Amino acid sequence: MPIQAVFLLLIFVSVVGVLILRAMFADRRREADVKALAERVAPKYVNPDKSLSRQSMSASLSLVTLPPVGGTLSATEGMSRSPRLGALCKTDEDFSELAFLEFAVALYQWAHEARGRHDRHALGTFFSNAALETFMAGSAELKAVTDVRVGQVRTLSVYADERWASVELELRGVQTEQLGETTLEVFRTESWRFRRRAEVRSPEPDRLISLGCPHCGSTAIIGPNSLCTECGKVRSGPDVAWEIAGIASERNPQAPRVHALPLSPTGHPRPLAPNLKDQMEAFEKRFRNFSWDALYGFVTEEVISLLTNDPAGMEGPMGRRLRYERLLTQRRRVERRLVLGEPKVETVLALSEDAGHIFVDLRLNLSVQAFFVSNTTQPPEPVQRQCEVTLARSKRERKGGWLIMDLRWVESPDDES
Ligand SMILES: [Zn+2]
Repeated sequence: MPIQAVFLLLIFVSVVGVLILRAMFADRRREADVKALAERVAPKYVNPDKSLSRQSMSASLSLVTLPPVGGTLSATEGMSRSPRLGALCKTDEDFSELAFLEFAVALYQWAHEARGRHDRHALGTFFSNAALETFMAGSAELKAVTDVRVGQVRTLSVYADERWASVELELRGVQTEQLGETTLEVFRTESWRFRRRAEVRSPEPDRLISLGCPHCGSTAIIGPNSLCTECGKVRSGPDVAWEIAGIASERNPQAPRVHALPLSPTGHPRPLAPNLKDQMEAFEKRFRNFSWDALYGFVTEEVISLLTNDPAGMEGPMGRRLRYERLLTQRRRVERRLVLGEPKVETVLALSEDAGHIFVDLRLNLSVQAFFVSNTTQPPEPVQRQCEVTLARSKRERKGGWLIMDLRWVESPDDES
């Protein structure tokens, strides 16, 4: 081989080597940049109650919020109001938000009745020791708790990392307490922190809501050492099921204030999902018979019917909220008047899904005249308002219709602070 050829080969090899090294470093730098950026923009988990956080999680836990499923909703936009639970689908593909919320309501009702019976053993199925102490505090004189009604369930925070999943819910409701010879109607606002290990999967919705054993479904009283009396497996604790790890509660013998605008207070508007156009295209492809016009027609009618009809027989979370509100207006002896214009759909906000349902978020405009009837005040002028609606449709029942799962008013400049 001539000496020039060897030189050329050497030069060629070194040039290629340098190029490869540069590419490698550039990749690493880009990775570091992306990581730094991701850390900067990642929503930070903010806990409104530090004591709850200490009770529920060990201090060594790194607080990493998982990115939302499918990028539909960022945690920051959810944090300002009621965040959705989609982040939990990331580790549990059987997770259903509506089933989880129904489970929370069923557990709340069952737990308060058990509190009235001082049944610590049964409560131990779902409560950590610390949470049980808080839950039972001040119940010494209690003879019975009956007629437990949950009015509103609001998600305060959602948390998930590679080790833990946790949800904090605010539950508002009313119950009857028998204290000695006295029977008292008590209004409660409680925040419950649910947690479980990241690898736990949700059982079938019916099993979850029945508060039964996650393995066999048995609803018999739990045996010793947290073992199921039917199947003999460990039935409770965060390694196999949701556990209440922290509780904060407020007890009031008087009904809380109500606003003239039903379903208040108002909140910040939810921004459009960043990839809304792609989501909508994928949605239309998947559901060939789907018509946006039909959905808009349904939702505008349903919002009016929801806000103006008698909530006595109304199903789902909205029925619960509206029945509770009606009770509050009765207890506060106020009479509400509501005059609504025809709602117009302004925009789709987001589309999402979990194991149980498909969800559509919409923003609507309508004119609202809301006031309490009294002799001294003049009815206010109608105000143009915005409301946001979350619709859910079951994935199991093919013929099932849409259900309004949530209705939120958007703040406007004339709202009270
Ligand atoms: Zn069992």
